[in-house]
Amino acid sequence: MSSHTHSSSWRTATHLLHDARNRTPHGETSDGLFLTSGFVYDNAEQAAATFEGTIDHLQYSRYGNPTVDTLQERLALLEGAEACLMTSTGMGAVSCALLAGLKAGDRVVASSALFGSTHWLLSHLLPSYGIDTVLLDGRDDKAWEEALSQPTSVVLIETPSNPMLDVLDIQRIAERAHKAGAVFMVDNVFATPVGQRPLELGADVVIYSCTKHLDGQGRVMGGAVLGSKEWVTEKLQPFARNTGNTLSPFNAWVLLKGMETLDLRAQKMASNAARVADALAELPGVTKVFYPGRKDHPQASIAQRQMRDGGSMIAFEVANGKEGAFACMNAFSIIAISNNLGDARSLVTHPATTTHKKLTEEERAQLRITDGSIRFSVGLEDPADLIDELTRGAQAALAIKAG
Ligand SMILES: *Cc1c(COP(=O)(O)O)cnc(C)c1O
Repeated sequence: MSSHTHSSSWRTATHLLHDARNRTPHGETSDGLFLTSGFVYDNAEQAAATFEGTIDHLQYSRYGNPTVDTLQERLALLEGAEACLMTSTGMGAVSCALLAGLKAGDRVVASSALFGSTHWLLSHLLPSYGIDTVLLDGRDDKAWEEALSQPTSVVLIETPSNPMLDVLDIQRIAERAHKAGAVFMVDNVFATPVGQRPLELGADVVIYSCTKHLDGQGRVMGGAVLGSKEWVTEKLQPFARNTGNTLSPFNAWVLLKGMETLDLRAQKMASNAARVADALAELPGVTKVFYPGRKDHPQASIAQRQMRDGGSMIAFEVANGKEGAFACMNAFSIIAISNNLGDARSLVTHPATTTHKKLTEEERAQLRITDGSIRFSVGLEDPADLIDELTRGAQAALAIKAG
C-alpha cells in the first residue's frame, strides 16, 4: 500500500472519492480488489511475529483484507468516526453492535419504530439471553425520561424510521442515554452518511446497511458499524472476527464503487423525493403523505435541524385500505414492487402485508402503519415520470369500491 490520502479540509463529495486511496505500486486508478482468503509469510519467524502481534502483517481475510480495510478507512473518514468495522449485511451490523457489548442482566432501551429484523432481535433474541429490553414510542420524550431513569447499557434508535418516517431528536436522546450510562447507537440507513451526521449530534455508534444507498444499485449486501477506536477494537472486532461476521472483499469493492457516486445519487434522490412528495399531497386518492422534507411532517423542525435534506424515502396512504394500496401498486410500470430501498430504481412496498406483516395489528397501529400505507423509495428516474405513475396509481386506488 502506498498512499493513505486524506485531508480534513475536503468536502463530502471529495472524501467519497479520495479518502484512504490505498494505491499499490501498480498505480491503479480504481481501488484494488484483493479477492484472497489468506496471506503468505516470508518465513516462520514472520508468521510467529504476526500472531504475537509484534508486527503488522495481514493474516486471513476474516481478520482483515486490503479491499475491506480501504472501505473501512474511507467510511470512517467520511463519518468522522475513529474506527469502522464492515459486516456481511446490515443485520450483521445491527446484531454485532448489540451483542458485542451485552451480557445477561443488561438493559437495552430502543424506539419501537425499527426495521423488522431489528425488532425481532430486541423483542425475541435478547430477552431469551437474559437481556432486558424496553421498546417505547421514540417520539415521546416522557417515555424516554422514564425508561432512562435507571442504568442502561445500550440505547438504539432509527431516524427517520422504517416505514413511516418518524424523525427522532438525536441530540436530546443522546443526552438522556448518556445520563443513564448507555452506549447510544443510531441506525442511520434512511438518512445515509451524507444526509445526517449522528456522531456530531452525540451518538456513540452509527450503523449502516450498505445494501441500501451505499451500494445503491441493488447488487450486493453489506453492513458497517462505526464508533470509537477503543469500542471497535476491544468489543466489536473480537466478536465479529470470532463469530465470522465478515464482508466479502468483492462486496467491499462494489461498495467502494458505489460510494464514489453516493453524494450525487443521494442529492438527486432527495430532490426527486421532495418533488414527488409535494405532488402526492395534491393527488385525489392519496389521504396522507409523510416526508421529512415537508413542512407538514409531524417532526419537520427536528428534521430541518439534523438532516441535510428530506432524504429519499416517502410514506403515503391511499384511499380504500389494502385493496386501494394493491390497486395503486399494481398500476405502476416503472416503480417496482420490492422491499429493498435506497436503490437507483424507484421501489414501493406495502408494509402491512410484507416487511411489517409479523407485527400484531396493535403494534402496527402504534407505528401508524395502516392497510392503505405504502412505503416509497424514490429513485433516479425523471420525477415527472414518477408523478405520472403515481397519478395513475392514485386513480386506481380511488376506483376501488369502498368496503
Ligand atoms: C435494510 C435495513 C437493515 C438491514 O440491512 P440488511 O443489509 O438487509 O441486512 C437494518 N436497518 C434498516 C433501517 C434497514 O433499512
